[in-house]
Amino acid sequence: MNRPYNFSAGPAAIPEEVLQQAAAEMLDWHGSGMGVMEMSHRGKEFISIYEAAEADLRELLAVPAHFKILFMQGGGIAENAIVPLNLSRAGVVDFVVTGSWSQKSAKEAGKYASDAHVAATAKDSDYTTIPAASSWQLSRGASYVHICSNETIHGVEFHELPDLKALGSDAPLVIDFSSHVASRSIDWSRVGLAFGGAQKNIGPAGLTIVIVREDLLGHALPICPSAFDYRVVADNGSMYNTPPTWGIYMASLTFQWLKRQTEGSLTGVAAMEARNIAKAQLFYDYVDRSSFYVNKVAENCRSRMNIPFFLRDESRNDAFLAGAKQAGLLQLKGHKSVGGMRASIYNAMPLAGVQALIAYMQDFEQRQA
Ligand code: PMP
Repeated sequence: MNRPYNFSAGPAAIPEEVLQQAAAEMLDWHGSGMGVMEMSHRGKEFISIYEAAEADLRELLAVPAHFKILFMQGGGIAENAIVPLNLSRAGVVDFVVTGSWSQKSAKEAGKYASDAHVAATAKDSDYTTIPAASSWQLSRGASYVHICSNETIHGVEFHELPDLKALGSDAPLVIDFSSHVASRSIDWSRVGLAFGGAQKNIGPAGLTIVIVREDLLGHALPICPSAFDYRVVADNGSMYNTPPTWGIYMASLTFQWLKRQTEGSLTGVAAMEARNIAKAQLFYDYVDRSSFYVNKVAENCRSRMNIPFFLRDESRNDAFLAGAKQAGLLQLKGHKSVGGMRASIYNAMPLAGVQALIAYMQDFEQRQA
């Protein structure tokens, strides 16, 4: 089937093979006589889906045994509250603000922590940079340090996670990896907790993934709802409440798809990472050479997943978007807080999609001359 290329920031494109498989299994999963949405979460059929999803995610991201994988609900925005409810111990927490999402996280944490301290901010650069780690004003005794490792709106990505120990902090690092989970490898020795909504790189909205170091469980504030207490969720195998079963099933299909991906001798996430580097490089190189389009993010922190770009003459934005749609290139409009365009090129976007976008951009430029 010849589907258009979908550049949505999320909910976002899902690999066609995954959609086809879900469609084929919609009415009858593996001869069970039931669709996945109709199954008890405690039945053996769904438990087998759940266990495969967890094992595959652990393998794909090389998650060490002393981390728990939780499948929750509420999305990244709910985690902005759930993390401080679990980890803040009502004390000081540090934030490195590199865009809209980390800014939102800091604001929400202020409801539960005595001080949601901004240790560094890139506001002065309109969130086109990441402040050097050596300049962060980390608090003594902070309960955790929060970063958004890929800022979906501003297109800013940490290409290396900070080593807090080397910065003199014993606090666990919390990362919001919503918009680049499974696009690259993760150095778990630097992470205490990672959270993210599934709707960009993993599956449909409604599933939230939390990967948390075991020693961080069991410190929830008394006001933390039981369904959001990581200890309770972990002790109940993510089934204290009914988990988002459809989302977990779709994620499991995506994880199987990811495991099948190869790039030269690489497989799984490593293969995706190589592909994602190539896709992003191609696009940034094109925009950087162009005098018609521009990207404003500093080179050392440009996102491989979300690329905001602008037409130098913004009066042509509507024509650009209308032509793109006609050319089968969907959802390129930038976030309203940044403006311009944004190409989100998650794992499900093939290189051919990026090439098609560049071809359209070249053609659009020529037609304006
Ligand atoms: N964090 C990041 C980095 C995001 O991109 C988003 C969604 N775009 C969120 C958090 C919020 O996710 P949700 O709307 O699922 O709560």
